Amino acid sequence: MAEVLLVPEQIPHEPSSSAIGESSECDEPMKKKPRLEKPPEQDDENLEDRLNEILCCTVCLDLPTFTIYQCNNGHLMCAGCFTHLLADSRLKDEQPTCPNCRCEISKNLCSRNLAVEKAVSELPAGCRYCNCKLPRYLLDQHERQGCKERLTRCKYYQIGCSWQGPHHGLEEHEEGCGYPKKTGSEVLEAIQQKEAGRDEDTKVLRNVVKLLSYEKINFNDLQLRPYRTDDFITKLYYETSRFSALNQQWVVKARVNDDERNPSHTLERRIAFQLSLKSRITSNLVMQFMILNGPFSDAKVEPHVYRFEFTPEKTETPYNNIPLIDSAECNKILASKTINFRVIMFQIPK
Ligand SMILES: [Zn+2]
Ligand SMILES: [Zn+2]
Ligand SMILES: [Zn+2]
Ligand SMILES: [Zn+2]
Repeated sequence: MAEVLLVPEQIPHEPSSSAIGESSECDEPMKKKPRLEKPPEQDDENLEDRLNEILCCTVCLDLPTFTIYQCNNGHLMCAGCFTHLLADSRLKDEQPTCPNCRCEISKNLCSRNLAVEKAVSELPAGCRYCNCKLPRYLLDQHERQGCKERLTRCKYYQIGCSWQGPHHGLEEHEEGCGYPKKTGSEVLEAIQQKEAGRDEDTKVLRNVVKLLSYEKINFNDLQLRPYRTDDFITKLYYETSRFSALNQQWVVKARVNDDERNPSHTLERRIAFQLSLKSRITSNLVMQFMILNGPFSDAKVEPHVYRFEFTPEKTETPYNNIPLIDSAECNKILASKTINFRVIMFQIPK
């Protein structure tokens, strides 16, 4: 996507200019005739191609799947590209602009374009299993439930059957599947493997439940605000104001792709945070803490508990990546002015 941004020649014509092209063509009656002779199906396909070109995101040139934003001059951007542009400019400390017309863009300045969203949802797209063409708004349900060619698993996969195939072959497979006749010891290994994955998840949750019954617990809803330093390459840092928890003063700091010189050059983004103790302590303080999205954010954070022993000399934890589900989630966070999250802290008794 970055390459498209760097080479303005690759950006397609504005929708308005191609529309003018069409209408001037229609003014000439001589050119209209051969068009009528074309089979109607082919005409439909041309119309579809032209609509695809007009309604696509002006940054990635794909047809947006759901939300579509537009700049003040009507240039369309899919939600992914829009948040990426906002996140990029936050990292570079620049005002975000529309890649087509350079007008200022932001969450307040840009609006959604519901008409285009609806038009795109009516445009046909091919099913990835059977290649049939359906309006986009019906495609998801067709691929999940309706399509006879959709990839299906045998219902005995829980006890180890690895059969996968088109849905129309499922009934025949299950009638002849050998797994229901296997003995307990034959299917034991498959069940043990399944349990192992689940055990990992419950271990995290059990630990949280255990921590919740400690005497000294505190939670804070915090706001990380961006700031910059006067380094040679200005980097983006975040910091909360001081907050008190468990009779101490604390600050949380965050950095974006902190191991790289220029994070705006990479597509893979991470935010790492550090918990920093601001009060003076005379004896060691063992803490466990976790980051949650809290009531003021919709970021998807996976549960993870960190542990650190603060000493009079060591008052800052290492930088840990906020366990976001993916890099797109990170861009979503960077696109907003501040990062809101909840930190829960548990003081571990000696
Ligand atoms: Zn896009
Ligand atoms: Zn624009
Ligand atoms: Zn299908
Ligand atoms: Zn089977």
